[in-house]
Amino acid sequence: MIILVSFAERKEQHQHNGKQVGIDVGLEFFYTDSDGKTVENPRFLRKSEKSLKRKQRKVSRCKKGSSNRRKAVKKLAKKHLKVSRQRKDFAVKTARTLVQSNDLVVYEDLQVRNMVKNHHLAKSISDASWSLFTDWVDYYGKVFDTWVIAVAPHYTSQDCSVCGTRVQKSLSTRTHKCHCCGAVMHRDYNAATMILNKGLKSTVGRTESKACGQNDLCLSGETPLSKSAE
Ligand SMILES: [Zn+2]
Repeated sequence: MIILVSFAERKEQHQHNGKQVGIDVGLEFFYTDSDGKTVENPRFLRKSEKSLKRKQRKVSRCKKGSSNRRKAVKKLAKKHLKVSRQRKDFAVKTARTLVQSNDLVVYEDLQVRNMVKNHHLAKSISDASWSLFTDWVDYYGKVFDTWVIAVAPHYTSQDCSVCGTRVQKSLSTRTHKCHCCGAVMHRDYNAATMILNKGLKSTVGRTESKACGQNDLCLSGETPLSKSAE
């Protein structure tokens, strides 16, 4: 976060278009938005992580103090650096594109640490680098003056985005089928729409301050210094 603070004064033009979007993190895709669009998971990261593990094993096989081990350690460190750069690049580019093309972005504030305990999800969660991504979404929200809201993830994947009925489903159920209103759609698309709805609900009562140019959600961390620099 130190890097973010150092250029928080940056402001860029963004054409306000009234577009509002909710995004849902998934297993199949990095995210699905409330327009039904998807962003692919970065497979290159999984590849890189495999190679990282191979290099790690090589280090532990080499005798301590040997020149072979020193070489292996060097290679491992290089790969580590590459993977963390790839993760960051993906997060930055994806966040920038998303925030730049919308006036309101709502995402789920996942407690990633809790989810990582679940072995099935662990790989995808770390790959997708969701929390890194949402940090950059927050950052670009300030840069482009886009409203960014994080909502609690309670029941966003269960509730029907059309009529609000709770439709219980396990992780393996990929389609949302509402027994009440008959709506049928991809579960991530339903969740993304629910997330947007939740975000919109939370803006009620805050719209006044937004209207006079005070983005109380995004700009609460701004210093008077950065304001005067606008
Ligand atoms: Zn329904």
